[in-house]
Amino acid sequence: MAQMPLYNTLALPGGRIWLRSQDYRELTGKTPASGEKVTLLMQKEDQARDELTAESFYPLAVAGTVTEADENAFVTIALQNRVHIDEIVQLPNQAFSMSVSRSPETDDLDPAEARRRTEAVKERILSFASGQRWEGFLRSFAEHWDSMWTIAGAMSPWLHNSVEERYALLAEDSVKARFDALEQMLLEGLEMVDVQSAAQSAQREDYEKLYRESAIKKQIEYLQKELDAMHPENVSEIRRLELKLEEAGMNETALKEGRKVLNRLKGEGSNSPEAGMLTDWLDLLTALPWKKAEAREISMEEARKALNAEHSGLDKVKRRILQQIAVLRLKGRQSGSILCFVGAPGTGKTSIGESIAKALGREYVRVSLGGVRDEADIRGHRRTYIGSMPGRIIDGIHKCGTSNPVMVLDEVDKLSASYNGDPASALLEVLDPEQNFSFTDHYLNVPFDLSDVLFICTANTLDTIPEPLLNRMEVIQFQGYSPLEKHQIAREHLLPKAMSAVGIPEGKLSVSDEAIDRVIEEYTREAGVRGLKKRMDQLCRTAAVTLVDDPEKELQVGAEELPDYMDMNPVRRKQVGETAKPGIVTGLAWTPAGGDILYIQTLLTRGSGKITVTGQLGDVMKESAEIAVSLVKDMLPNKADLFRDHDLHIHVPDGATPKDGPSAGITLTTALASLVTGFPVPPTTAMTGEVSLRGDVNPIGGLPEKLMAAQRSGVTQMLIPAENIQDLKEIPPEVKDALTITPVETVEEVLTALDIPFRTAVPQAI
Ligand code: ADP
Repeated sequence: MAQMPLYNTLALPGGRIWLRSQDYRELTGKTPASGEKVTLLMQKEDQARDELTAESFYPLAVAGTVTEADENAFVTIALQNRVHIDEIVQLPNQAFSMSVSRSPETDDLDPAEARRRTEAVKERILSFASGQRWEGFLRSFAEHWDSMWTIAGAMSPWLHNSVEERYALLAEDSVKARFDALEQMLLEGLEMVDVQSAAQSAQREDYEKLYRESAIKKQIEYLQKELDAMHPENVSEIRRLELKLEEAGMNETALKEGRKVLNRLKGEGSNSPEAGMLTDWLDLLTALPWKKAEAREISMEEARKALNAEHSGLDKVKRRILQQIAVLRLKGRQSGSILCFVGAPGTGKTSIGESIAKALGREYVRVSLGGVRDEADIRGHRRTYIGSMPGRIIDGIHKCGTSNPVMVLDEVDKLSASYNGDPASALLEVLDPEQNFSFTDHYLNVPFDLSDVLFICTANTLDTIPEPLLNRMEVIQFQGYSPLEKHQIAREHLLPKAMSAVGIPEGKLSVSDEAIDRVIEEYTREAGVRGLKKRMDQLCRTAAVTLVDDPEKELQVGAEELPDYMDMNPVRRKQVGETAKPGIVTGLAWTPAGGDILYIQTLLTRGSGKITVTGQLGDVMKESAEIAVSLVKDMLPNKADLFRDHDLHIHVPDGATPKDGPSAGITLTTALASLVTGFPVPPTTAMTGEVSLRGDVNPIGGLPEKLMAAQRSGVTQMLIPAENIQDLKEIPPEVKDALTITPVETVEEVLTALDIPFRTAVPQAI
């Protein structure tokens, strides 16, 4: 005999159940065979066959016989009577050994009445099915429904009753009572389905209404567009804004605010004083690039090419930029700190930003921050002001029209705080990747996502960049160019560009190498190439005039012809003098425009030991002066008295930045030692380095710029702090080759290198 555990099935004596042959095999572990006796066990819970235990079953089961069995299709089991499970033991192979006995019942059902009521229920089911797709199938099935018990077996899957409720039917001893309860269960089930389908159709109607409404709206929109296209002149201002607003793809907050303002505009009418302001605002809102621009695939090779196309040299800078591009490619967004290009004017900081944009295939936009003092310049003015405007950031985004441009924030070192708030803190918010995805400009007043913008800052000096801003940035130094590099830039870029800008065809004008060198040497004095570019433009403009007069001519510009092409006299070049005088020493200064030489002049006059410092360096120099005096007194003890009955005057002509005061330490000490000993230092020897009171020479900044300035000015020997030696790698070889560079660690070494005797009795010079 097979045992079949069943869950939630209405298997009642007198009925029949149908199941797939495959399910029969799984439930009984046997192949279905006609005539097989089966005990249908009622499971309490929905358990898999291998989880079943002796406790899984209700005490009453049903005995049945397989009446039809098609191995590949269905099995029909006729159910005979209830049995009581007297004993059940679980066997190891998931089967159960059990002893059952027939469970008696009271047959109090009137067969005629039962037949009548069964027919009624059957009719009710069939009428419910009428018109449905599956009506035919159900009718053919219903032909076999000869009793309420059979109907129960067939309808079981569609009923919502619980296992307990179903089992309660089986547990009922009176057949009549069981019949009544089953009839009620079936009719209730039908009602439930009826109610459900009514609810569903009501819901369907609602949906249909909604679909219809949106379809009508779309139609109206479409027709309106058609009309607008036929008569563009009639499209009202408001309608135009409305269309733009809906199409811009902006975020929910922006769209809501936009609709609000549009409604206000509709209410105001176009003649109201506010209308212009509202329209301007809506114009900006709808013109912003709300839709995310697709990031282009970046090829490193193309990026390298784009960077090299417009700029010669700058290898270190380009390498660093390529690293940033590689990270951008891997991570898909700008990560870490913002790049900040620092260097003298005309060293290519801004223009390389443009090349980066080209390398990435993005738009380029430059936002100048020079002279920005007001927070509103960055973040916009509130809309309540007449003439209020968006800030420079949103304005930049508006101008370039894409959400992911390369935005160069020019001159971050020229920001300054004022009573109108601190623009630097507003800028911090712009640059912070944690915040800038919802940057809110005061004028726009809705958040705009700046997270796809690639920001690059430029500055001439780090000294004036506010500290918190500087912390966010990664500084990349742009040193000035050596004459050789300038020559290359002029030849490869500036001259060809200048020629094509004025329309001189190739071959019509040739400029000799000597002429270019002469322009660099005599007509410019700068660390970058801005002046050089102007001179090249000037040269080409002058040539253009000649070529217009005589189109056949081919112009050759050599060093001799050059003055005819320049509209200025050669710049007075500060060259080191020839005659050496005690007390005057050549020093070097770093300035935002590159390096420069300066002479430190000292003089002792009869007096009472006062120290006077004149020139630009003021107080910073005063401290260095005092240290220098002490050091000289220490190194030249027999000259110490001089400082008691003389006044010391130090003068530093020409300006350099105050920061440079300490780096003139060794120059000052040397000048004083030279003054008191009477040993002159050749003007072609220059030096830079801080000194401590112990006489150590400490490292300084800006060495590359200083060495280039030294070489430009004709210096041949340089003393530098020993700790700065590693900076020499960054210096172009032609600059290094032109200089004899002596690293020094102490002031004694300085004096020794210059042949100034110390700690000895030296001839009285004064
Ligand atoms: P900065 O922003 O540093 O002041 P710019 O980027 O405005 O300098 O450069 C000034 C001019 O010099 C531009 O026309 C630029 O193309 C040119 N320039 C600067 N550096 C180079 C270089 N390495 N190669 C070619 N041209 C350069």
